[in-house]
Amino acid sequence: MSTYKVVVSDQVFPSVEVERGLLAGIDAELTVASGGMEEVLATAEDADAILNTYLPWDAAAIARLKKCRIIARYGIGIDNVDLAAASDRGIVVTNVPDYSVEEVATHALALILASVRRLSFANETVREGGWSIDRFRPIRRLSTLTVGLVGFGRIGRRIAAPLEALGAAIVSYDPYLTPTAEIQLLSSLDELLATSDIVSLHLPLTPETRGVIDDEAIGKMKPGAVLINTSRGPLVQLDAVTRALREGRLGAAGLDVFDIEPLDPTRIEGVPNLIVTPHMAYYSEEALAESQRKAATQVIKVLTGEKPDYQVN
Ligand code: NAD
Repeated sequence: MSTYKVVVSDQVFPSVEVERGLLAGIDAELTVASGGMEEVLATAEDADAILNTYLPWDAAAIARLKKCRIIARYGIGIDNVDLAAASDRGIVVTNVPDYSVEEVATHALALILASVRRLSFANETVREGGWSIDRFRPIRRLSTLTVGLVGFGRIGRRIAAPLEALGAAIVSYDPYLTPTAEIQLLSSLDELLATSDIVSLHLPLTPETRGVIDDEAIGKMKPGAVLINTSRGPLVQLDAVTRALREGRLGAAGLDVFDIEPLDPTRIEGVPNLIVTPHMAYYSEEALAESQRKAATQVIKVLTGEKPDYQVN
């Protein structure tokens, strides 16, 4: 019998061999559970550790864990684990906050470049037998444009350097940052909206930031500006964006996340200059492997008495 039992409460990866290999190093056996909470608990009740993606661990479910010492989330958000209930029972909760920083920054950059160069519409035009560029006018030179990064954390920082290398001017609004030589910080979101040709969101969803891009905010943006959201859907009122695109007040938008996911495609039917992707900015094979490796490492650290890297409670 192994020294430890580790249960994957909901399996989303093609394989869990990364975790299995690492955990074998401390004589921990990995079991993959499936089904609803009752079925999962039948396997997980006596686990020493849980690896979790989406399954909601509420107080009642946590109370059923007899000797669990850590619930390790593979992803970033920890809203599906009752942190207070876990703390009450002495269970450490961890996440992996940084596994996809490069991917999200790359995806935001791709949406910015595709929006500025009107790529998806050009592609459609050629496929429909068109050739005239009149439909895409005006396209502006990137090095004459200002990109406003709302939030200058891990992802905001990561996207600034390649944009600068392409000649764009970068400004940011981040009320929790102290001024630094690294970036021109503006004193308000309104100032950023009024200054930027491209507004890219890299801030968390909180009660304060929900719906921060609404009709009023769009009204403060430059006519023809570009909006990019790879952060969280509810930051943006989608209907305000589609209205502004139809009326030509916004030049283009690139959205990876939506207030309701999956997105109902009828909400964007016929909306011009809009590129949408299915909440995929985090994804690459390497990012997934990193999240598996780092989540399993948190389990190993806690079970062997070391301090985990990413404790959230
Ligand atoms: P981070 O915590 O490193 O940085 C967020 C920054 O936003 C911080 O510097 C913070 O001070 C700032 N901020 C907080 N409130 C603000 C406000 N009201 N106005 C302006 N700035 C504010 O986070 P990160 O790793 O850079 O992630 C940014 C966003 O990307 C998060 O919302 C995250 O959920 C999202 N994300 C999306 C995907 C995806 O697949 N689309 C994947 C990973 C992360």
